[in-house]
Amino acid sequence: MAPTVLAARGVTKTYRKGAVAVPVLRGADIDVAEGEMLAIVGQSGSGKSTLLHVLGTLDRPDEGEVLYRGQRIDTLSRRRRDAFRNTELGMIFQSYHLLPELTALENVLAPAMIRYGVFAYLGKRRQLRERATALLERVGLGHRMTHKPRELSGGEMQRTAIARALMNEPRLLLADEPTGNLDPTSGDGVLELMRGLNQTDGLTVIMVTHDRAIAALADRTVTLVEGRVAEEAEGLRVQG
Ligand code: ADP
Ligand code: MG
Repeated sequence: MAPTVLAARGVTKTYRKGAVAVPVLRGADIDVAEGEMLAIVGQSGSGKSTLLHVLGTLDRPDEGEVLYRGQRIDTLSRRRRDAFRNTELGMIFQSYHLLPELTALENVLAPAMIRYGVFAYLGKRRQLRERATALLERVGLGHRMTHKPRELSGGEMQRTAIARALMNEPRLLLADEPTGNLDPTSGDGVLELMRGLNQTDGLTVIMVTHDRAIAALADRTVTLVEGRVAEEAEGLRVQG
């Protein structure tokens, strides 16, 4: 068995809207093994995005722990969580979250600018641009480097977001409904790319989806039900 790279233990999360409390996670446990591609499925509103945000330190649990290689990460200061995400994690979202004023190349470079700061970044600018260029070529966008997001298709925007997620050589890729806004052909391309990054580069991938056909591409699927994570029995996987 590969070691656990990321884990949640007894995670709870409740949203409050005025006097109304909406419990979303109610003691979620999950273990992500190094090198696996894991799908998290569940109905709309079941808390998949909430769990992914907690795993990715974008949000904090109310109770419980999040561990990266056995170390608590949910209790780190905001600054250290930002740095953790910047260097260890790549994240992609259904709506891409590219910066609209920047070209594809500049979007891919942004995490490196944040990582090194402007001064050190300028010193490494040439090698970082080479890396960003190679990443865009790898995702099939060598001919779109100077395009801005509004000049790209949905599939091209998501590929740009993947290149950006890889810029700082993360160990883990977290993806929240990465093909949710894409037509089937573009979606398949994005999924193939993620599968390849997992298989070829050994990148650990956690993918949230409500679509079981997409989840079937992963090595393993878990389901969020009533705020907890259930392992899927093998036989369940073949159902639609
Ligand atoms: P999923 O990704 O599985 O569709 P989410 O994690 O986005 O589910 O949301 C789970 C539940 O929590 C939903 O009922 C949603 O309306 C609620 N929720 C999510 N984010 C917030 C928030 N920031 N404030 C209040 N309620 C929220
Ligand atoms: Mg969601």
